[in-house]
Amino acid sequence: MTLQIHQFPCLSDNYGFLIHDPATGETACIDTPDAEAYLREADAKGWRITQIWNTHWHPDHTGGNQAIFSKTHAQVCGPGLEHDRIPVIDRTLHQGDRLGLGSYTAHVLDVSGHTMGHVAFYFPEAAVAFVGDALFPLGCGRMFEGTPDQFWTSLERLKALPPETTLYSAHEYTQSNARFAIFADPDNAALHAYAEGVDAARAQGQWTVPTTLEAELAANPFLRADTPEMAVRWGGSSATETFAALRAAKDTFR
Ligand code: ZN
Ligand code: FE
Repeated sequence: MTLQIHQFPCLSDNYGFLIHDPATGETACIDTPDAEAYLREADAKGWRITQIWNTHWHPDHTGGNQAIFSKTHAQVCGPGLEHDRIPVIDRTLHQGDRLGLGSYTAHVLDVSGHTMGHVAFYFPEAAVAFVGDALFPLGCGRMFEGTPDQFWTSLERLKALPPETTLYSAHEYTQSNARFAIFADPDNAALHAYAEGVDAARAQGQWTVPTTLEAELAANPFLRADTPEMAVRWGGSSATETFAALRAAKDTFR
């Protein structure tokens, strides 16, 4: 039996995810943007929430912890570096930790940079990863707390996963990310094709999350900071410096 993933929109542009192991009935919330939505969706599925896994401390990722915990007494797991800002946390996570959901095991990846402790959850057997606000389709998270070196190291960790890995990001930002991506990498044919698909999907109200690592490797300008093309266009004598230039340009791009 396969790991079940239920995705639903939350707040203005977040996605909620409930993941469920049918063999044991264990169910985890990936982040908690909206407690009521999570409780309602779990109910509709007939799933009992047993765990909460937070990627980082931002309120649109942890705001529902308290209310979901009160109703379910789920175990709350989140990044160790952010434990003081994560409501009702009772297990802290670090790079390399293993986290069980019934018969499945997630690998905890340090993907910090957006925040100091941001983690991702990677299930090798299911070939899926929940990446929060570290990586988005055609983009990456804003660098609120970390350094370019730290963020690039995180992106390299994601780049090293098998290309067929399905990536679940926490927001629907793809269409605006695509505008910057095309500005940043205008000669990339794979990017243009990707962006056209995004426009078509959004015109029909479809979600652009999840994506695959393979698609992002070809088209996401931030993952391509180590290519000669991006170094020529954006400068920098290392991937970290090129990434830093790209990230800074995105912050002021209109
Ligand atoms: Zn965030
Ligand atoms: Fe967020």
